[in-house]
Amino acid sequence: MPFTVAIIGRPNVGKSTLFNRLVGRKLAIVHDLPGVTRDRREGRASLMGMDFHVVDTAGFEDEGGDSIEARMRRQTDLAVGEADVALLLIDSRAGVTPLDRHFADHLRRLPTPVILVANKCEGKAGAPGLYESYGLGMGEPVPVSAEHGEGMYELFEALRPYAEKAGALDDEDEDDDFFAEPVPEADDAEPDPGRPLTMVIVGRPNVGKSTLGNQLLGQDRLLTGPEAGLTRDAIAVEWLHRDRPVKLVDTAGLRKKAQISDAIEKLSVSNTIESIRRSEVVVLVMDAAAILDKQDLTIARLVVEEGRALVIAINKWDVVDDPQTALKRLRDRLETSLPQAKGITTVTLSALTGRGVDRLMDAVIETWDTWNKRIPTAGLNRWLEEVIDRHPPPALPGGRRYKIRYMTQAKARPPTFVLFATKPDQLPESYVRYLINGLREAFKLPGVPIRLFVRGGK
Ligand code: GDP
Ligand code: GDP
Repeated sequence: MPFTVAIIGRPNVGKSTLFNRLVGRKLAIVHDLPGVTRDRREGRASLMGMDFHVVDTAGFEDEGGDSIEARMRRQTDLAVGEADVALLLIDSRAGVTPLDRHFADHLRRLPTPVILVANKCEGKAGAPGLYESYGLGMGEPVPVSAEHGEGMYELFEALRPYAEKAGALDDEDEDDDFFAEPVPEADDAEPDPGRPLTMVIVGRPNVGKSTLGNQLLGQDRLLTGPEAGLTRDAIAVEWLHRDRPVKLVDTAGLRKKAQISDAIEKLSVSNTIESIRRSEVVVLVMDAAAILDKQDLTIARLVVEEGRALVIAINKWDVVDDPQTALKRLRDRLETSLPQAKGITTVTLSALTGRGVDRLMDAVIETWDTWNKRIPTAGLNRWLEEVIDRHPPPALPGGRRYKIRYMTQAKARPPTFVLFATKPDQLPESYVRYLINGLREAFKLPGVPIRLFVRGGK
C-alpha cells in the first residue's frame, strides 16, 4: 500500500481544488465504490518530488437522507480508515464554522493522524481564519492556497514525517516511485542526446514574451524535427541553437496573448503552472523598468517548486539609460528578494532588437546541462566530509554527536540527493539548507532547484 493521504472537510473548503492541484487533472482516476453512489476520487499525487496516493472525499456529504453530521462521519471514516494521514481542510476566509468543529471532534477520536490545513490563505483575507483555526486544537495549521498553489512546500514539510513513518521514504528503490517528477517524457536515464531541450517563456503581461518568442523564431533559425515547416501558430516549435535541438512550447499561448488588450489581461497563475510543467527550462521575462514584483517572485517560486531550471531574462534593455547602475541595482534586488534564486543566470536583452537573444539561448542550454548533471558519489562524499568537519551538525540531546553517514545523488532533472543519517528527523532545517548551499557552490549548480532528502538507515 503506498503512502495514502485523505482530504477531509466540510463542503466548499476547497478539497477538490487541492486534489486537482496534487494530482494534476490528467492523472486523476475516478473510482466507483460499490454502495456509494457518488464517485470517490483517488489519484497518484506528487508534491516536491514526493509521490503518494490521495483520496478526495468531496461529494460524499450530498448523499443519504440522514443528518449532515452522520454523512460527514461516514465520509470521514471511509477515507480515513485507509489513510496514513488526513488533511483536515478549513476555509480560512470563512473562519472556523460549527461544521469544522464537528469534523475536528470526530477526527480526534480516530487513530489516524491529522494535519490541519487552512486553505484560501492567499492575500490577507485568510489571516483571521488562520489564527482562529488554532482553536480547533489540531495543532499548527498549514496555510495554503489550493487555487494559487501557495504553501505547497509547507504542506510537503508537514507530510514528510508521516511519509517517513509509513516507510515511503525509507525504501532503497530510489528511482521512479518516490522521486518521480512531472517531467515531460519522464525518464531517469541519461538524456538522449538527440532529444530537444524543452523551454517555455513566462512572465507578467507586457514584459515582451511574444516579442521574444517571435525574435527566437523569426531569426534565421533552422527549423527541425517533426514540427519543421509549421507556422508560428504551432504549439511547439523546434530549432537548433549551436547544434543543440531546442523546443519552445506554448508558442500559441504567446501569440494569442499578444492580441488581447493589455487592460484586460491578467497573469494567469494556473496557465503559468501548466506551462512550467510542460517544460524543462523556464525563461522568466521581466521588464527592465519594473523588475521583481510579487508576481515575478511567485512565478520564480513555482519554477523552483516544480523542479524546473530557471533563467531570468531582463527585457527592454535598449531603453535603459544607465545600464551599469541599472545592472548593479538589479543584482542587489535579485539577491535580496529571491534567495532561492542564488546563482540564477540573468541575461539582459532586447527582444525588440534581438540583442542578447543569443546569450539568452546560451544560458538556457547551460542551465539545462546543470539540471541534468550527475555528481559521482566518491566526490560527493569527499566534499561531505570536509563540510561536516568545517561545520558539524548540532549535537543531539544529551550531547551525543549527530552522525551523518554518506550522501548520494538519487537522480538528476533536478539534482536530487539523499543524505543517510542516524536520526533523520533531528537534523535541523537550517543544516539542510547549509548543505544545499554548499552543494550548489562546490558542484556548480546555479539556477536549478536542489532537492536533499535525509533518510535513516545504512
Ligand atoms: P470542496 O467542496 O471542498 O471540494 O471545494 P472546491 O474545491 O469545490 O472549492 C470550493 C470553492 O472554493 C470553489 O469556488 C473554489 O474555486 C474555491 N477555492 C478553492 N481553493 C481556493 C483558494 O485557495 N482560494 C480561494 N480564494 N478560493 C478557493
Ligand atoms: P507580452 O505581453 O509579454 O507578450 O509582451 P509583448 O511582447 O506583447 O510586448 C509588450 C510591449 O513591449 C510591446 O509594445 C512591445 O513592442 C514592447 N517590447 C517588447 N520587447 C521590447 C524591447 O526589448 N524593448 C522595447 N523598447 N520594447 C519592447
